Amino acid sequence: MTGSAAGGPPAGAGPTDTDWAAAVAAVRGLPAGARVLLVCHVNPDGDALGSMLGFGLGLRRLGVRQLQATFPGPLEVPEPFRWLPGSDLLVAQDDAYPDPDLMICFDAASESRLGDLVDRLDKAGAALVLDHHASNTGFGGIHLVDPHAAATSVVALGLLDRLGVALDAEIAACLYVALSTDTGSFRFEATTPAVHELAARLLATGIRPGEISRKIFDTRPFGAVRLFGEVVGRARLEPAAAAGHGLVWTYATRDDLARHDQPAYVLEALIDSVRCTAEADVSCVVKQAGDAEWAVSLRSKGAVDVSQVAMALGGGGHRFAAGFTGRGTVDEVVDRIRAELPGALLPA
Ligand code: AMP
Ligand code: MN
Ligand code: MN
Repeated sequence: MTGSAAGGPPAGAGPTDTDWAAAVAAVRGLPAGARVLLVCHVNPDGDALGSMLGFGLGLRRLGVRQLQATFPGPLEVPEPFRWLPGSDLLVAQDDAYPDPDLMICFDAASESRLGDLVDRLDKAGAALVLDHHASNTGFGGIHLVDPHAAATSVVALGLLDRLGVALDAEIAACLYVALSTDTGSFRFEATTPAVHELAARLLATGIRPGEISRKIFDTRPFGAVRLFGEVVGRARLEPAAAAGHGLVWTYATRDDLARHDQPAYVLEALIDSVRCTAEADVSCVVKQAGDAEWAVSLRSKGAVDVSQVAMALGGGGHRFAAGFTGRGTVDEVVDRIRAELPGALLPA
C-alpha cells in the first residue's frame, strides 16, 4: 500500500490524524504475548539506532514482552552507540521473528534499506513505518513519515506521547543521540524551535549532553585519526563542478581500513572532515563496500539538492544529506555524480 493510511494527502504533508490513530491502534490493539519486531536501516546511524531503541524501551514500559530489535547485516553496532540503553533488545537478523505480529521500521526510506529483513514486511501481521525522508517510497501498511521532522526520533517521540509513555532518562538518551546526530549537533537547517523544545524535554530527564556528545562525536581510535589524515590528504577540489559551486571529494578503500586496523564505521564521520571545504558547495566521500561497490555520502551547503543526485543514481536521502550505492571504479562513481550535479541545482 502506498500513501497515507487514510488514502489522504501524500507522504510529503506528514502524518494525518488518521495515520497517528492507526499507529496508536496497531500498538494498543496488540494481544497479550504478541511478538513485535523493530527494524532500522542497514549500516545504522545514530537516528536509526536511537529512535528504534528509544521506542523499544517505550514499548517495554507499556508491557510488551516479546520484543526484538534488529538491522540488516552482521550484528555489529558501531562502538560509539554500544552503550545505548535498550541495546539488550538487539538480536541478529537471522534470529529475528520470521512472522512478527507487528513490525516497526525506523529511518528507512525504502524497502531496499531493510536488506534481507524485507521478507518480514509481508509476513508481519501489520507493518508500521516511522521515517522522515522526503524520498520515502510509501512501503509498509501504516505510515508515520514526516519529511519536516529533523530526525525519525521526532516521529518516534510523537507516537510515544500519543501512547501515553512517560519519558525517562533511558528513552531520552536514545532519542537525544538520534536528534543530535541527524541535526549535526543542532547545526543543520532542520534545527527549528520545535527541535530545541524537544531537546529541552529530553535534557529535563537528567541526561548528560556533554558526556553523550563526547561518546558519539568526539571519540575515535588513534588508528582512525591517522586513517583520516591519509584519506583527507588525498581529497580533490573541483571548483568548476556543480556549475561553479564546487565539489570536494575523497575515497577510502578496504585496504585503507586494514592498514590502520579500523572497522568500516569509523568512515561515517569522514564526510564532516571534508564538507567544511569553503570552496565547494557539494562534498562527497566514496567508501568501499565490496570489490567494485561503494557506499557514497553526499552533502550540500544549499546550492544543490543532493537527494536528486542520489535518487538518480539509485539511492535517496535529504536535500542536503544523501547517499547511494555506486558500482565500478571510484572515478566512474565520481564521474556519474559530477554529471548529475548541474541538473540538481536549487533556485538561487
Ligand atoms: P550518510 O551519508 O550515509 O550519512 O547518509 C545520508 C542520508 O542519505 C541519510 O538520510 C541516509 O538515509 C541516506 N542514504 C544513504 N545511503 C543511502 C542509500 N544507499 N539509499 C538510500 N538512502 C541512502
Ligand atoms: Mn539514518
Ligand atoms: Mn534520520
